[in-house]
Amino acid sequence: MAYSEDIIRRAQDRLQHAKADHDSESAARIARIYAAYPRLREIDVALRRSVAQAVAAALRHGEDPTPVIERLKEENLSLQREREWILDANGLDESALEPAPICPHCNGSGYSGASMCECLQELCRQEQKKELSSLLAGKETFESFRLELYPSEPDPQTGISPRMLMQSNFQLCKKYAREFSAASPSLLFTGAPGLGKTFLSACIARTVADNGFSVVYDTAGKLISDFESAKFGGDHSGDLTKKYLQCDLLIIDDLGTEMSTQFSLSALYQVINTRMMEEKPIIISTNLSADGISQRYPGPIASRIRGTYTICPFRGTDIRALRR
Ligand SMILES: [Zn+2]
Repeated sequence: MAYSEDIIRRAQDRLQHAKADHDSESAARIARIYAAYPRLREIDVALRRSVAQAVAAALRHGEDPTPVIERLKEENLSLQREREWILDANGLDESALEPAPICPHCNGSGYSGASMCECLQELCRQEQKKELSSLLAGKETFESFRLELYPSEPDPQTGISPRMLMQSNFQLCKKYAREFSAASPSLLFTGAPGLGKTFLSACIARTVADNGFSVVYDTAGKLISDFESAKFGGDHSGDLTKKYLQCDLLIIDDLGTEMSTQFSLSALYQVINTRMMEEKPIIISTNLSADGISQRYPGPIASRIRGTYTICPFRGTDIRALRR
């Protein structure tokens, strides 16, 4: 999963803090138990010492270590029996005196071998959701999509009602979100404002992010202003713009509302073209029609969108007005 460096850094910070808390809690717990049952501490110290003595005996040259080790074994057995008895009599579990690792797979390092551990992945998922929630307006979910708000009268020209059309868009979006993979196609949502384009793309963003993919969701205007800051604000590392190129799914809202300049067109081209070459999907929503895209954007941008994106037209009456 190509989470942005920012998200990974935040997730790692959280894991480090959680590990420090966890370690000091377990040290405090053990200290409390020893304070309440000092004999347990004596036994544990003696057990550790006898392990060291056994090792020393085994390493000593020219002497048979067997008698020493046999004696230590016997002493240990009786210490262990006493220890168990104290634990049992006081309703303590054996594990109460073990410093348990925060994660059994990576012990809080976040990685097992070269791959990211499930515990760090989960924190990345959570950080990703937080970032998305701050961008998305409300609680967009497929369950709260209201198909009945779209007119059921067929369009005289096409014979298809907005409701039928939206039913098919809705099914497509749900399936897309559920089955999202790196190989998913790019989508283009077109239609007048207030028909649910942003709503459905937000639903997709949430579901895809829940499934552990990195999702970047922003307006075309914000994307371009990030590219401007990166170029003119001295962000030479490209941290601001990397996420648009590297995330698993990029959602660009409101394409066509941004200022059209040479710079904005070149930034858009860079994003659309780079992701197309690397076969990383984009979902674009716009109030422009497909023809409107050709009129507003130069051929290299328009042809890539119109030629490779699955076009989902949205029709109906302004849902936001109806909801109010
Ligand atoms: Zn782990």
